[in-house]
Amino acid sequence: MTVVVLALDALDAGLVEHFNLDEFRLESSGPIETFAYSKDDPYTPEVWTTVATGVGPEEHGVTGAGTSEWGNPLLEFASKFTGRLSESTRGTLGRFIRNTTNQRETIGRTDRQTAFDRDNAVVRNWPGVTDGRDLQQAWDLMNAVAEGMSKQEFERKLLCLCAEQFGWAREILHHDVSLAGVHVHTLDAAGHAYADDPESLERVYRRVGAFVAELVTELSEEDELLLLSDHGMSVNFLDADADADPATHSWRAYASATTDEIPESVYDVPAWIDRHLSATDGDVDDIDMPTERLRELGYIE
Ligand SMILES: [Zn+2]
Repeated sequence: MTVVVLALDALDAGLVEHFNLDEFRLESSGPIETFAYSKDDPYTPEVWTTVATGVGPEEHGVTGAGTSEWGNPLLEFASKFTGRLSESTRGTLGRFIRNTTNQRETIGRTDRQTAFDRDNAVVRNWPGVTDGRDLQQAWDLMNAVAEGMSKQEFERKLLCLCAEQFGWAREILHHDVSLAGVHVHTLDAAGHAYADDPESLERVYRRVGAFVAELVTELSEEDELLLLSDHGMSVNFLDADADADPATHSWRAYASATTDEIPESVYDVPAWIDRHLSATDGDVDDIDMPTERLRELGYIE
């Protein structure tokens, strides 16, 4: 069996309701708790590293205000002044630095143990865990559309990247893999670009929903799927966002799973993975067992 974790950046619980998208409503679904650390709103690399490790930024070390986000001394110096900038402003600054120094910003990687450090686990494009090249492509597209790239070209490139990531997840199901995780930045990039354009945003949500539906049809009886987000996206067409700036990250993180329960918060994902891998696998070697409790119950000495 394989447990697949789809990290759908910025999938917004309120927009799933607003657009009425059943593809995102698996057996269990609903809002989950997320957090903000170095900024006022949840920040992508901080939250996804927490999803993978189960610990906060102060422990996993990947933060928006810290030096680990940036890959060279000049960028580290610049980051002292940019810790509180929005993602798109930061992207513009990143491009400026790239053009003038011929180097680009990178996202730090945690040295903490992650849920993907186990036998037969694979992970692709996970902020704070892998190299993040796909994420940088999506960030570049987000900046390009803000600077005049056509909607057609933006959506084609963004959704072709999304299709590669979903295609990877589908192929994984044909291999001996215990846990597969992939981060997909499509809805965040589209949310920033289309926070005032409900028709276009709904079109992208429906394409991503269709990818989810395709993946679900490929799951075997034993496989499980968890999809979740790190935050949502404030838009100018939801009553709930009347006081929010459009295209800033909302607190409406969302999760949905083929199991009978979803994690309560972004901190609970490694425990959720442990529960659902052990439920069907019977392979508990590499899982952190509550030995005290088992001893009390008399299962071990
Ligand atoms: Zn995000």
